[in-house]
Amino acid sequence: MHVPYLDLGLIHSRIQKELDEAYHMVMDRQWFIGGKADEQFEEAFAAYCGAAYCVGTGNGLDAIRLILLAYGIGQGDEVIVPANTFIATALAVSFVGAVPVFVDASLDTFTIDPEKIEEKLTKKTKAIIAVHLYGRCADMETICRLARKHSLRVIEDAAQAHGAQVDGKRTGVLGDAAAFSFYPGKNLGALGDAGAVVTNDKEIAGKVRAYGNYGSHEKYVHMYKGCNSRLDELQAAFLSVKLRYLDGWNRERRRIAKEYTERIHNSRVVCPQIPKDEEEHVFHIYPVLVEERRSFVEFLGKHGIMTNVHYPIPIMEQGAYAEDKGQIINYPVTKRICKQEVSLPLYPGITEEQIELVIQCVDSF
Ligand SMILES: *Cc1c(COP(=O)(O)O)cnc(C)c1O
Repeated sequence: MHVPYLDLGLIHSRIQKELDEAYHMVMDRQWFIGGKADEQFEEAFAAYCGAAYCVGTGNGLDAIRLILLAYGIGQGDEVIVPANTFIATALAVSFVGAVPVFVDASLDTFTIDPEKIEEKLTKKTKAIIAVHLYGRCADMETICRLARKHSLRVIEDAAQAHGAQVDGKRTGVLGDAAAFSFYPGKNLGALGDAGAVVTNDKEIAGKVRAYGNYGSHEKYVHMYKGCNSRLDELQAAFLSVKLRYLDGWNRERRRIAKEYTERIHNSRVVCPQIPKDEEEHVFHIYPVLVEERRSFVEFLGKHGIMTNVHYPIPIMEQGAYAEDKGQIINYPVTKRICKQEVSLPLYPGITEEQIELVIQCVDSF
């Protein structure tokens, strides 16, 4: 038996007819940028998140960057970023000319450790980017309290957490503005690159739309030195189809994760905790920690089980950040995660037999 890490073909084959219809709808209209499909998806996704506004963007990295631009964050500013995240979070900050200030993760949740934020704040700090990593909400209550105390913006990087909830509120409305990615492998994925900004702030929504449209609110009138980062009609049409399945897929992801955590019993493999009822983790990734990572991955591979690592090298140790000296950084938890993390296969449609094989193999390692 083979267990792929993710099976997009399976997910898409089940909704093939609806995706075909979406394609034909756009082809019939022959209108590809800034039309009805975009408008409909933005409205549906804003409603899904419980937010007033959604603005489609070209990808998730741009969604973060456009929020920073809209808030006027740039040269001379600092932004708090978790050390344990995909590099896009930090790159967005660097791209606008601001400095990402890294804060270590909590070992219990893998998200930013809010206890370690305050010591990194300076007069230059403008915002905190809370990343809901692996599908789990960051500790937004503590982060928002800190932000209020120090007059900072809270930006959610919700690229891995479409539909995740705390106390009945979904990602997208847990801070001031949120960035989503619809990269194909995400919980809600397009059939190409796509992203969105979600917010209740009308002014920010308007600025994000303008910045992503050559700095223009009105054709050929340019308020800002913007860029081109828009959601196209085809992707919007596909996303509207897939959005209808998101809750079901997330429920399935949670069920699989629960099964892994409850049934894997191997003292050499540390499984993620399943949060209590008031919090809905959407398990974009199911991360386990294993000291002997290389042999573990090889062992699973020999049994036909594919895995991934999220992420092998801390951002501050990447060549891209080699010149950013001067930060005294201490990130033992992030270092441990980067050394020991292994992502097990988890996707809608994985069979009971496949789950069984994963559990048996992990236990027999
Ligand atoms: C995927 C991802 C992004 C970037 O999204 P793209 O659409 O690939 O640009 C940003 N942050 C996190 C945490 C991600 O996982």
